[in-house]
Amino acid sequence: MSHIYDITRTISPSLAVWPGDPPFSFEHNFSIEAGDLVNLTKLKLSPHTGSHIDAPYHCDDAGAHPADLPLERYIGPAHVVTIARRYGGIVPEDFAGHDLAGMERLLIHTWTSELPDEQWPEDFPYPTLEIVDWLAARGVVLLGVDTPSVDQFEDDRLSCHHRLNQHGIAVLETLTLAGVPDGVYELVALPLKIADVCGSPVRAILRPPLR
Ligand SMILES: [Zn+2]
Repeated sequence: MSHIYDITRTISPSLAVWPGDPPFSFEHNFSIEAGDLVNLTKLKLSPHTGSHIDAPYHCDDAGAHPADLPLERYIGPAHVVTIARRYGGIVPEDFAGHDLAGMERLLIHTWTSELPDEQWPEDFPYPTLEIVDWLAARGVVLLGVDTPSVDQFEDDRLSCHHRLNQHGIAVLETLTLAGVPDGVYELVALPLKIADVCGSPVRAILRPPLR
């Protein structure tokens, strides 16, 4: 059996969420302990809780919702690359020395992967328009980050979100790549089939490449 890396943050009430988002919570509608036949819980969460995809609708009123997304981009070969940059804009030079031949998907491993689920990084490194255009020129179809956003924390224009949408590059955020050696893997990170919302949690995994 081949090894699977689970690169998903654990969703629980203590998981750090974007400032202002409601933290994940749940309650019991039915409880075996209280004499009910089953345990039946009710969840409350932002679609951007933990490891998730951003649907284009997140920053574009006419954009697609999770239920409408083509799934091909969320399954397939992915390069995991660790970068040394701790702060500021990520640029192509941050990937110097890495073998990116044939790259279809890129998962960027930064220091934030090592943070516990409870801790929120504000000053995280973030993609730049330069890196987004560079990925598009290489034919990359998905960008995954272990940080909370593909834009700078304070960026209220969401430049990279928009540019990624324009290029048709899918977005995964808040992964955790701790303990994953750099290399090429098969990524599986499917959004839930939810209509009309702006994103979806995923169970993101990496396994040895199929080819
Ligand atoms: Zn998001």
